[in-house]
Amino acid sequence: MPSRTKVRSINPATGELLGSVPVNTQRELTAAVAASHAAQAAWARYSFAERRARLLRMRQFVMDHIDEIAAMISSETGKSRMDALSTEVFPVATALTFYAREAERVLSRRRVRPGSILTVNKRSYIDRVPMGVIGIISPWNYPFAIPMHEVAMALMAGNGVVLKVASQTLLVGQWIERVVRAGNLPNGLFSLINLPGSVAGKAFIDSGIDKLFFTGSVPVGKELMALAANRLLPISLELGGNDAMIVCADADIPRAVGGALWAGFSNSGQSCAAVERIFVEKKVYDEFLTLLADRVMKLRQGADTGWDIDIGSLTTRSQLEKVKAIVQDAVAKGARMYRNGNGADGTKGFFHPPVVLTDVTPAMEAMRGEVFGPLVSVMKVENVDEAIERTNASDLGLAASVWTRDRAKARTIAARLEVGSVMINDHMMSHGLAETPWGGFKKSGLGRTHSAIGLEAMTQPRVVIDDILPFIRRDLWWYPHTRAVYDGLKGALQLLFAQSFGAKLSGALKLGRIAPRIFHP
Ligand code: NAP
Repeated sequence: MPSRTKVRSINPATGELLGSVPVNTQRELTAAVAASHAAQAAWARYSFAERRARLLRMRQFVMDHIDEIAAMISSETGKSRMDALSTEVFPVATALTFYAREAERVLSRRRVRPGSILTVNKRSYIDRVPMGVIGIISPWNYPFAIPMHEVAMALMAGNGVVLKVASQTLLVGQWIERVVRAGNLPNGLFSLINLPGSVAGKAFIDSGIDKLFFTGSVPVGKELMALAANRLLPISLELGGNDAMIVCADADIPRAVGGALWAGFSNSGQSCAAVERIFVEKKVYDEFLTLLADRVMKLRQGADTGWDIDIGSLTTRSQLEKVKAIVQDAVAKGARMYRNGNGADGTKGFFHPPVVLTDVTPAMEAMRGEVFGPLVSVMKVENVDEAIERTNASDLGLAASVWTRDRAKARTIAARLEVGSVMINDHMMSHGLAETPWGGFKKSGLGRTHSAIGLEAMTQPRVVIDDILPFIRRDLWWYPHTRAVYDGLKGALQLLFAQSFGAKLSGALKLGRIAPRIFHP
């Protein structure tokens, strides 16, 4: 048998070879989906309590391996172990708990009350039916948290799962496989498949999955949606962001600076909901910028070997080149910058120093699209209206934040922002809240994940309408049709919705004339 192609996993902060993982074939993907289908039929009949017990075993495994998982996330992405713990391992433990606990409440049978007197004999209920086998394609920037949320939701809702993680983070993918294995699921229900992105889209869509959950870039999202359309395959897209932070004149400035620092620079800014554009009311612009620049200069950057860094490296060389080009473009067009000089600039690894750009304009790449790097752009605005207008000028609409001491004002501003999540005096952290939905407006995606809405998205509703009065043998509108039946039904409409008492009475009389027909088939 010919030896398999393997993908090498490299630590982007040190260049160290971490391991290599064999590539699967499309045939193996199709076989994995078929095996998952076979196991899913029985899994869908497990009680919520039985599924819950398995998710809680997975959580226990995570709890028993916190340090190893955080270390592997850090090694494969270049982010710090602290970032890995706070934004990946921690949210996964809480998400497993939340979905294990909430799925029964969210997905159990729901009764529906009759909508009008004409249908009082009908009793309806809605069951949430698992989709079948869920395909998940996930990115490298949160290689543990993003797929684990979706795996947990899919399983609790009664589905099988076939997962592809990014080629950059295959060893974290193997940790996901270990976590899921600890749940002792039926054989074949879950599979991890390693296919390169260049072939994965068509392969997944043709594989027999019943819904695809994709998290990644806008161009790939568009490509997948076009492929899915051909098969009418349901698809959920969690795509890019270009998040804005609005700093009002009455904000707690040190807190706002702390928030901008964390949400702008953690994971080296490679977060879909990283702070990228900061709009500051002119009254506090100088104060905010001075403090932000000072704090950015103090960030410690490097490979996380001695617990003495705040931020690590970028994850890929192409991302490093992209960020450099964005900074060059901004400076060429007149931006000024504060550039941290403490870091690993010039050392091995994909490091770009943290940068604050000022004097920015909408023509600069830094303001136009997603940067995905350790870079924030700060712009002075006349007032909140200008900040809102500039925030909404993006064709991406993932998240945004409002910084003010006036919470009522913050909520009014939030209502005007064209984004999927607005945080008040915080940013980005709600991705870690399993209880709140996640997803974007505009080109930031389609559908929602996380929370009760995310659990529902792993199912389709089936409504059952039952007739509870056995002596009713025929609905009013069944055959044969005559002028009298038409008038009687029109009378029913008048009885229900006419304004005057006289019209209602006349309607009731006409309805009364045809009412006996319900007793004869
Ligand atoms: P990407 O290039 O779109 O890749 C994401 C995943 O898709 C990877 O597993 C990749 O596999 C795979 N892939 C690549 N090309 C594909 C194709 N033609 N068909 C099917 N799959 C394909 O994105 P990325 O650069 O890894 O991730 C960064 C992007 O994700 C950013 O835009 C970020 O904002 C977005 N993101 C969004 C969210 C959110 O929740 N909205 C969260 C995180 C990230 P390979 O690695 O094998 O190429």
